Amino acid sequence: MSQNEILQCRDVTVEFDGFKAVQGMNLDLHKGELRFLIGPNGAGKTTMLDVICGKVKPSSGRVTFGEKVDITKKPEHQIAEMGIGRKFQAPSIFSSMTVLENLEIAMRQKRSVAATLFARLSSEAKDRLHHQLDMIGLGDKSGHRAGGLSHGEKQWLEIGMMLLQEPEVLLLDEPVAGMTDKETDKTGELLHEIALKRSVVVVEHDMEFVRNFASKVTVMHEGKLLKEGSMEDVQGDERVAEVYLGK
Ligand code: ADP
Repeated sequence: MSQNEILQCRDVTVEFDGFKAVQGMNLDLHKGELRFLIGPNGAGKTTMLDVICGKVKPSSGRVTFGEKVDITKKPEHQIAEMGIGRKFQAPSIFSSMTVLENLEIAMRQKRSVAATLFARLSSEAKDRLHHQLDMIGLGDKSGHRAGGLSHGEKQWLEIGMMLLQEPEVLLLDEPVAGMTDKETDKTGELLHEIALKRSVVVVEHDMEFVRNFASKVTVMHEGKLLKEGSMEDVQGDERVAEVYLGK
C-alpha cells in the first residue's frame, strides 16, 4: 500500500448461497480521493460498499484501512469507529427532532462518553455544529422539524450527521437518487467540499452527475472490475458501452 492510500480491497469475493455477487474485486482509494463506482444493476456495487463497512463479510479477499490495518473480519460498529462512515439510501434521521438537534446527537455520539451526553456543549462544539449546518445548506432551517424537510434536505442532514462523526472515508450509495435538478447540483457542490478533507466512494447511477467531477471512475460488471480510469477513458471503452453506457 502506498503512503497515500487509505483503503485497499484485494481480490474480494462475496457469495450469497453459492451465487458470486462480487468476484475477485480490487479497489484502492487514496487519501482525499473522490471515487465513483458505477455499473449496471446487479453489478455488485452496493455489495462492495457493504464489504468495506463490514456489513457483509467476503468469502475471500482482504480489506485494509489506514496504516494497513486488516479490517476484513472486524465488526461493522468497530469499522465505523475506526473512521469509515456509510450512508444508505434511506435517511436515518430523527423525524420529530429539529435539524440542529439531529446534528447535535450525531456529534455527541462521536464523543461516546456517557458523561458528556447531557453536558453543555463548549463554544467550540457549537461553532462546529453551526459550521456543519451551513455546509449542508440548512443554516436557515436549524429549528425546523427534520421530518418536514424535503427529500434532498433530509439527505444533506444525514450527510452532515455523518461528517460530525469525522469519518476518514465516506461511503455514499446513490446520494442524488430522487433529487430535483437543483438539489442534485447542490449535492455536487457538497461532495466537492467534502472531498477536500476526506476520501469518498460514491455508488452512482446518474451519469450526468458523475460527469461534473474530474474523478476516477470504477466500472463493475457481474461482480468484477470491468474498467477503471477517467470518465473519458471509461466512456471510450467498448466493453463499458456494451454493458452499460450505450444502453
Ligand atoms: P448493484 O449495487 O450493482 O446494483 P448489488 O451489490 O446490490 O448490485 O447486487 C449484486 C448481486 O447480488 C445482485 O444479483 C443481487 O441480487 C445479489 N445480492 C445482493 N445482496 C444479496 C443478498 N443479501 N442475498 C442474495 N443475493 C444478494
